[in-house]
Amino acid sequence: MKPKKTVEAKEKSLTRVKREVRERLEKWLENTPYKFNPDTATVNTVIKGLALRRLKYGKEYCPCRVVKEDEKENAVIICPCIYHEEEIAENGMCFCRLFVGPNFEPE
Ligand code: SF4
Repeated sequence: MKPKKTVEAKEKSLTRVKREVRERLEKWLENTPYKFNPDTATVNTVIKGLALRRLKYGKEYCPCRVVKEDEKENAVIICPCIYHEEEIAENGMCFCRLFVGPNFEPE
């Protein structure tokens, strides 16, 4: 079992990184026609996934895609990934379901 302090410190930094990820993406959204998915549980899960990836790899890689060995290859999956526009145009939302298009209607 890990010492309590280490677990607490990890939780604290995860909380901080989640907040930073959310703030960065909120700012990014201001200049796009997109918005967060109205399903807040999905948004929270994906943001947590992005924060965990940043803590592990130092970059906010898409939590729904495989991170490869080659850092250059992974550049395309830093959120918002290069696929989001096409995915939102086709499916109304990105692959992780984090961002939705302006005409998105929840089911
Ligand atoms: S699929 Fe969505 S959440 Fe994942 S990196 Fe692309 S834009 Fe971000």
